[in-house]
Amino acid sequence: MILMEFAMIGAGAMGLRYGILLQEAGNDVTFIDTWQPHIDKIREQGGVYVSRDHQDRHLTPIKLETPETYHGDPDILIFFTKQMQLAGFLERCEHFFNDKQYAFTCMNGMGHIEKLQQYFADDKIIAGTALIATVLNGPGDVDFMGKRGAGKMNMANLTEKPDEMTHRLFDELQKAQMNPTLTTNFKGTLMTKVIFNSVINTLCTLFEIQMGEFGNFEKAYDLGRQLIDEAYDICERAGITLVSTRDEEMTALDINTRIDMPLHYPSMYQDMIHDRPTEVDYINGYIADLGRQYHYEAKTHLFLTNLVHLSEYHHENQRREREAAEKKATQTA
Ligand code: NAD
Repeated sequence: MILMEFAMIGAGAMGLRYGILLQEAGNDVTFIDTWQPHIDKIREQGGVYVSRDHQDRHLTPIKLETPETYHGDPDILIFFTKQMQLAGFLERCEHFFNDKQYAFTCMNGMGHIEKLQQYFADDKIIAGTALIATVLNGPGDVDFMGKRGAGKMNMANLTEKPDEMTHRLFDELQKAQMNPTLTTNFKGTLMTKVIFNSVINTLCTLFEIQMGEFGNFEKAYDLGRQLIDEAYDICERAGITLVSTRDEEMTALDINTRIDMPLHYPSMYQDMIHDRPTEVDYINGYIADLGRQYHYEAKTHLFLTNLVHLSEYHHENQRREREAAEKKATQTA
């Protein structure tokens, strides 16, 4: 029995994770992507290779379209692009949007909600956060980190009023073992995760280290606390009620890095090592921008944002040098 119809906008690591698990739970899922090497590989292989914790690599058939070839009418569109890709996807997908559809996302950072509001009414927008790690090894090849049912996620309606579709989505996510929690504090739920990521994702990416190495560092508490304090001060000024206290957030950081995921690299790290731009402007940069609106200079978040951009710049220079050396080598061969 087909339960619900979903279109996954962005079939990268997280789009594939959510989409394949929803498909396995019996839903009708179509994946929509724009990265040509990925599209070509999936078509050539007849699906996506899926592993769990580097094991049991197997081919999973999926329905794949580009924004231009898709003409379906799904109940829910699930957005999993990088923040800076979202505007482009929305523009290319607009032709199949209508006012009955719901938009759902668990993207990291902030900046995406305002973009979704340009295409969907507030009562059709549901967003959340995902403590679920997934790695796209390369085109057509994804690795779900953690045992089945190990991750968890939060979700909330932009209107903070769950309706029938919210509960249907919640039930399907539960069947797919994503362990959802439904809250009625939209901004607080999203910002608590942004602040969490502003410490771990950013610092581990900057130093290209696993989360456990950060968590076990003797000054990890001091580093984290400075960022947490700045961000919490700003949220207090902005009237955002976060879902955990400063101390609870510090404890969550400690447990997550040292105990739950010591060997994990955050998803921002994947972008850095693949010479892709990171989402730092939508995480630490967003916190700093929000601070400015309330006359609070988030100096540490601003400094970290600029350091990540310095590292991106360095990676880009290295990539260019590598390409130039390879070109020279083929010319002389
Ligand atoms: P992703 O980079 O894997 O995929 C996003 C889009 O980028 C897809 O359309 C994909 O095809 C494309 N893409 C992937 N590699 C590319 C490359 N080398 N060149 C060009 N295009 C490429 O992103 P994701 O990890 O699925 O993240 C989506 C959102 O979810 C982000 O906001 C992210 O921060 C968030 N998130 C990710 C994780 C995780 O563990 N991956 C966990 C929680 C939240």
